[in-house]
Amino acid sequence: MNQQKKKIKNINQIVKKNILNLIPYKSARLLYKNNINNKIMLNANESPIISLFSINNRILNRYPEQQPKELLNFYSKYINLNNENILITRGADEGIDIIMRTFCNQEYDKILFCPPTYDMYRVTAEILNIKYLMIFSINDNWKINFNEIKKNLKNIKIIYFCNPNNPTGNILNKDNIIQLLELTKNKIIIVIDEAYIEFCLNHTMIYLINKYENLIILRTLSKAFGLAGLRCGFILTNKYIINILLKVIAPYPISIPVLDIAIQALSTKNLVIMNNNVKTIINNKKWLIKKLSNCSCIKKIFTSKTNFILVKFYNSKIIFDILNENNIIVRNQNHEKILNNCLRITIGTFDECKKLFFTLQKIS
Ligand SMILES: *Cc1c(COP(=O)(O)O)cnc(C)c1O
Repeated sequence: MNQQKKKIKNINQIVKKNILNLIPYKSARLLYKNNINNKIMLNANESPIISLFSINNRILNRYPEQQPKELLNFYSKYINLNNENILITRGADEGIDIIMRTFCNQEYDKILFCPPTYDMYRVTAEILNIKYLMIFSINDNWKINFNEIKKNLKNIKIIYFCNPNNPTGNILNKDNIIQLLELTKNKIIIVIDEAYIEFCLNHTMIYLINKYENLIILRTLSKAFGLAGLRCGFILTNKYIINILLKVIAPYPISIPVLDIAIQALSTKNLVIMNNNVKTIINNKKWLIKKLSNCSCIKKIFTSKTNFILVKFYNSKIIFDILNENNIIVRNQNHEKILNNCLRITIGTFDECKKLFFTLQKIS
C-alpha cells in the first residue's frame, strides 16, 4: 500500500461511519467554481438584484465560496502551511464542534480534557450527548497529568488540550505531547487549541502536523488579532482530515464581510500592527504582575504566556465585588473547586492596568 492510501485508511478507522459514508451537500457554489463575472447565474436561487447594502463595495447577492481561496492564501502565508492544511471556521468554537461531530459516536466514544481548561469542550460534548472524561491538572503548577491520561485511553476518541491554557495561562510540555501522539496513532485525535498562541508563538505545535496524522490545531482571529466580533477561526491539520471535515462544515460558513475583514487583518501591514499590539499587551502584563506582587490581598499570581493572568486571592468574593463596584469586570473562577478564590484578569490597556492596580492597592 502506498503512503497516501495508508494514511487515508488510518484516518478512516477513526472517523464515524455515518460521516465516512455521507454523501456531502453539494452547493451551487461548489458545483460551479469558475469566475461568475459576466455569467448569467441562475443556479443558486440567489437574487439577481444587487442590494443597497455593501461593505468595501463588495456586493452580497451571491453566495461565497465554501472555503474562500483568497483568505486561505493569506492565512497559509501567515502560518507557513499549505492551503490544503487549512479549514476556515466561524471561530475556534465551531472548530471544537465540527471535530466532535465528525469523530465521536454518541453510543460509545468519549472525549477527554484536562480541567481547569476552556469550558466549551465540555459544553459541546454535553450538547452533542457525547460522554467525556476529565483528568484534572496537577494543582499549583497546572501540569497535565499525562500518566493518568495514558491509563485512561479506553473508548477515548478525541483529547482536547488548550495551549497555552485558558484560564491558567500555562504551556504544554512538547515531549509529553509527542509521546502521546505516538501512543495514540491511528486511534485517537489530539486537538490542540492555540487560541492564544500569538502571545508565545515559539510554543506552537504546527510543525508536528506533517508528522502526526492524528493532530489537529485550532486557531482564531478573536484574541491577538482583536477580532472577537468577526467570528473567524481556523482548523489546521493534514489534507485527509480537512477533506472529511469539509463534508461536515456548513456549505457557506464564512460571510463575505467576514472574509473581507479577515483578509485585511492578515495583510503584511496589519501583521506588523498585530505583533506590536501583542508586545504592548505583554509589557502591560509584566508591569501589572510586578505591581500586583506587592498587594497583600493576593496569595499567588500564576505564570501566564497569554493576555490574561490567573490570580489567587485570600478572599476572591470580596475582591470581585469591590472591582465590580469600581466598574472593573473580571472573570470569576470559583465554579471550579481547584480554582477556589481565583479570578482571571484580562490584560487591558496600560491605563486600565493602572486603574486595576490602584483599586487593588486600596483594598490591600
Ligand atoms: C476564546 C477561545 C476560543 C473561542 O474562539 P472563537 O474563535 O472566538 O470561537 C476557543 N478556545 C479558547 C481556549 C479560547 O479562549
